[in-house]
Amino acid sequence: MAVLEVLKMGNPLLRETSIIVENELKTNEFQQTIDNLIDTMRFQNGAGIAAPQVGILKRVFTMEMEENHRYPNKTPFPIYIAINPEIEFLDNTLVDSWEGCLSIPNIRGKLKRHKRILLKATDRNGDYFEEELDNFAAIVAQHELDHLNGTLLIDRMESMETLTFQEEYEKYWM
Ligand code: ZN
Repeated sequence: MAVLEVLKMGNPLLRETSIIVENELKTNEFQQTIDNLIDTMRFQNGAGIAAPQVGILKRVFTMEMEENHRYPNKTPFPIYIAINPEIEFLDNTLVDSWEGCLSIPNIRGKLKRHKRILLKATDRNGDYFEEELDNFAAIVAQHELDHLNGTLLIDRMESMETLTFQEEYEKYWM
C-alpha cells in the first residue's frame, strides 16, 4: 500500500492536460500506480481521484462510494477504474452539485453537472466498458474527468458567492 501526496490548488500540474495511456497500462509500474491511486483515494475518504492529483499526467481516474452513514443522501457505487475515459451526456438535465476536491481541502462550491451520463473507458486490464451513471456517481465521474483536462471545480462555478468552507457548508447548506 502506498498513499501518495495529493497536490493542492496552485500546483501547476493540476492545470495540465493529461496524456492518453497506451501500452504502459499492463506494466507492473502502471498497475502499481493504479493501486496507489485507490489507496490514496480511500485514505483521504475521497469519492474519486484522478492521476494528475498525485502528479501523474496520465488519463486515469478511480472513483468509489461505500455505504456511509455520515452521508445518507449519497448513493453508494462500486469502484470504477477508468483509463482514457470519455463521457457522453444522456440528456440535458442538470443538477446542482455542492462539490469538494482533495486538491482544494475544506472548501465547497456549487455548480451544475449533468444528471445522467454514459462513462466510456477501459478498465485496468485494457478491456473497454460503458457504464450508465446518474446523480452522485455521474457528478464524481464528471469532476474526475475535468482533472484530466486541467479543470477544477471553481472553474465551473457560476458564482463565487457559493465558495464555502466545509464547516459553514455543513452548518448552512447541507
Ligand atoms: Zn477534485
